[in-house]
Amino acid sequence: MKEKFLGVDVSNFTYDQLKENIITDIDENRKSFIVAINPEKILQAQRDESLLYLLNQATYQIPDGVGILIASRLNGGTIRERVTGIDMLLALCEQASLHDKSVFLYGAKPGVADEAKDRLREMYPELRIAGVLDGYVKDYEYIKETINEAKPDIIFVALGSPRQEHWIVDHMDELDVKVFQGVGGSFDVLSG
Ligand code: UDP
Repeated sequence: MKEKFLGVDVSNFTYDQLKENIITDIDENRKSFIVAINPEKILQAQRDESLLYLLNQATYQIPDGVGILIASRLNGGTIRERVTGIDMLLALCEQASLHDKSVFLYGAKPGVADEAKDRLREMYPELRIAGVLDGYVKDYEYIKETINEAKPDIIFVALGSPRQEHWIVDHMDELDVKVFQGVGGSFDVLSG
């Protein structure tokens, strides 16, 4: 299920398995945390023990980088499909619209998540977008209240790495959300 790369766990699930598992997690009321792993993060984790711990706390560490596929093959592992953060975001939006689950977009500069929301609406007209919040709001109580009032099934957190991973692990217990995915600069890409 997981392979280790210099101490960092990576899940060997394909997109199809991930999509299915995550919808089941929501339906069975389990919280999950998705983090994209690339070779840069693995190297960063060698110098930062708290990051290593954090990455290994995630439910699903998706293999976001061909370097990981090559290393898996050399190690006799089974990871054969690259799963990028943004493609996972899109796959989850597609699943959410098919299974009537809601999403929340948190992060990026003011206006960017709104544009990403418009783009996602065009792509998935049935998608329920429960809320949007930029990543420069300072008042955590306000952030928490906004998210908990929206009660999304899935939240995409775009605060950059490793800030977003710290944020997710620090707050996932007190937020009324099932699935947390750190998505880095994905809202900028979608809005651009
Ligand atoms: N960001 C944010 N709040 C902050 C710092 C950064 O919302 O306090 C956002 C920033 O606007 C950008 C994203 O986080 O949308 C970081 O993107 P980047 O491509 O640097 O992240 P990476 O994918 O490299 O982790």
